Amino acid sequence: MSGGESLEFEIHPNPAAVPAAERAALLANPGFGRIFTDHMVTIRYAEGKGWYDPRVEARAPIQMDPATAVLHYAQEIFEGLKAYRTDDGGLTMFRPDANARRFQESARRMAMAELPEQLFLDSLAELVRIDRDWVPDDPDGSLYLRPFMFASEVFLGVKPSAEYLYVVIASPVGPYFKGGVAPVTVWVSTEYTRAAPGGTGAAKCGGNYATSLAAQAEGIEHGCEQVVFLDAVERRYVDELGGMNIFFVFDDGSLVTPPLGTILPGITRDAVIALAREQGHEVREEPYSIDQWRADAASGRLREVFACGTAAVLTPIGTVRSADGEFTVGDGSTGEVTGRLRQTLVDIQRGHVADTHGWVRRV
Ligand code: PMP
Repeated sequence: MSGGESLEFEIHPNPAAVPAAERAALLANPGFGRIFTDHMVTIRYAEGKGWYDPRVEARAPIQMDPATAVLHYAQEIFEGLKAYRTDDGGLTMFRPDANARRFQESARRMAMAELPEQLFLDSLAELVRIDRDWVPDDPDGSLYLRPFMFASEVFLGVKPSAEYLYVVIASPVGPYFKGGVAPVTVWVSTEYTRAAPGGTGAAKCGGNYATSLAAQAEGIEHGCEQVVFLDAVERRYVDELGGMNIFFVFDDGSLVTPPLGTILPGITRDAVIALAREQGHEVREEPYSIDQWRADAASGRLREVFACGTAAVLTPIGTVRSADGEFTVGDGSTGEVTGRLRQTLVDIQRGHVADTHGWVRRV
């Protein structure tokens, strides 16, 4: 299922919404993922009945029977994207249609019902509209949107659930990096992998993140902010980070990024490929090994490395650490190509320049 199915949402404004003064205090320093808006959207699905009961209502705990399927077999997927306040006071989202399609692809991989694209887009617009006062005014802030869906059937058999609950919540977020963009140090996990061929690496399912946490904890123990995962077969090729895709920038101006397959097809990754090509860079989607990374950093052929994703847009990677030691790319500072691509993307997302790609959607 894809297409344009749409439903009329029942809207129940929250009678106990956070008062304006309290909201302003929360928005002054929102951090990431700890503060939530007044409402949520829910849509239910049942086999034989389809999608039904679309609601916008007060954000509240979800009651679940202990035998609810998701609690046992982890049939769950999610998305992440942002709504922005533009200079003229309008509200926009960046490529929500791409998130809608990826949500359908994740659902297919996890044998779940596919939410029609139009319902996904409508659900986001409904939530952003009712909670518009929660979109930060801060030029670096945004409203992070978290659509997710889980197996809600009460049944202990191992099979695709016959019922699903789709939910959207929203969380105002500040700038990802306080004090500006600074290169991060990454941990290359040689013990754990994230995704095998035929596995779920390309799906945005909760289980992928559960299995990344031991590696993430190991990285933090070694003073690293993010983990780089290698391919599960040869344990040589760079796949991606725990929550971001990766690009390598060479001295001839070309860029390399790992090919799709076992990695999450990032929407930022896709935008960066398009923008880099427009700026005259050759971009190749091809395997790149950790040994090559080390050698190219040493020879100086590799000039810059950056990670990209919705949360932090583009993040330079400075030092690379692993059980075998560490090395640094360039002089460890933010490179010129990384900085320019980041600025171009932010300017499009924030409406500071014309959106020639049709990526920005007004709410
Ligand atoms: N890889 C992983 C594993 C992620 O969780 C994310 C964040 N969604 C990304 C890459 C980047 O994807 P996007 O640019 O769509 O945010």
